[in-house]
Amino acid sequence: MNIILLAPPAAGKGTMSELISKKYDLEPLSTGDLLRAVLNKGDEESVRLKKIMDSGQLIDDDYILSLVKEKLGNNKGYIFDGFPRTINQADALDTLLTSINDKIDKVIYITVPKEVSLKRTIGRRVCPNCKKVYNIYFNKPKNEKICDECGSNLIKRNDDVEEVFNKRYDTYLKETMPLIEYYKNKGLLEEVENIDKEETFAQITKILEEI
Ligand code: ADP
Repeated sequence: MNIILLAPPAAGKGTMSELISKKYDLEPLSTGDLLRAVLNKGDEESVRLKKIMDSGQLIDDDYILSLVKEKLGNNKGYIFDGFPRTINQADALDTLLTSINDKIDKVIYITVPKEVSLKRTIGRRVCPNCKKVYNIYFNKPKNEKICDECGSNLIKRNDDVEEVFNKRYDTYLKETMPLIEYYKNKGLLEEVENIDKEETFAQITKILEEI
């Protein structure tokens, strides 16, 4: 089973991906996480990527596809988080999966009001060590600066500030929203509103049980 999570910035894709991947034994594949792992290398390529990401724009399709290609090919199935983000990426994913006799089974479109997305973004704190994600408004760690799980210092992503959020949101509207029609036309799209984590996960589970 291969699932795509499609959503505006900070709509809860990462959280849902984690829950779904555990329940259905799928491999989570987040292009945002793959890119942030490259940034940690600190080489010339990482400087180029960081500049684009910190400005809220998209990385070029060829680079993203090379990252994804490296990961594809397990026999478990994937939960794609933050990919595809353009029609071109979606077409390329389709071709890649077809070449290995596989396909996308469902696209879950997670909706959330823009104000909620913004608050989730500016309040988000992540643990660089165990990757646990907190939010200082909705899901506080015991100590605002320290990870409850492993005691590491929490960090705020460079792109989790209001100005970059607005740019990311505009990029989403322009580049990624067309995928909603694209997958609707293929009969794969299911819409879920993310108000409450448990409720949203229950709705997604119901959709996946019907595949
Ligand atoms: P969010 O969904 O909250 O915006 P992500 O972690 O998915 O965060 O992405 C962070 C940034 O990484 C994006 O703003 C973009 O610059 C880059 N990025 C991630 N995935 C892709 C992709 N599939 N195509 C192009 N750029 C991407």
